[in-house]
Amino acid sequence: MVNRKGKKIEIKRFKYLKHENNNPANHPECNFCQIIMKEKEILFEDDHIVVVFGRLHHKGHLVIMIKTHEEDLLKLHEKTVDSFMNDTIKIMRALDKAIKPDLFNLAYYDNWDHHIHWNVYPRYKSDSDWGNPPYIPNKGEHFDPKPLTEEEMDIFIKELNRLRKKII
Ligand SMILES: [Zn+2]
Repeated sequence: MVNRKGKKIEIKRFKYLKHENNNPANHPECNFCQIIMKEKEILFEDDHIVVVFGRLHHKGHLVIMIKTHEEDLLKLHEKTVDSFMNDTIKIMRALDKAIKPDLFNLAYYDNWDHHIHWNVYPRYKSDSDWGNPPYIPNKGEHFDPKPLTEEEMDIFIKELNRLRKKII
């Protein structure tokens, strides 16, 4: 959406935008803001979060990020924190139906990208790193991604659509 002066505005998608400084459109340096703006890879979004697949070194690896550019978890608004946690659990339930892992790891790192996000790692007893924190390949390190099968993806998308209807 563009206003009369030609300036880009995102009223509908960014309902809880506090300042222009939190607008993903103003953070070309941020990888996550780029994903949010492009929309192409987004699996799910609501007022507070955006969900995409991670690098899939673990099957179903999800990245759940705050929808506006926020860097400091300790300064996040209480309502956004509530939503960050609650919406993440809902998404995990949807993923659980699709791929039935033995358990989930939920990890907040803040090492590489400082846009607030965390990672959901479904874990299986058959994982070579089972019983330990998930093994994270370094940037540039080779690994074989583990995408969902077509059938699992159908179930996951169906569950996400059901969730979207409940929220909207
Ligand atoms: Zn960002």
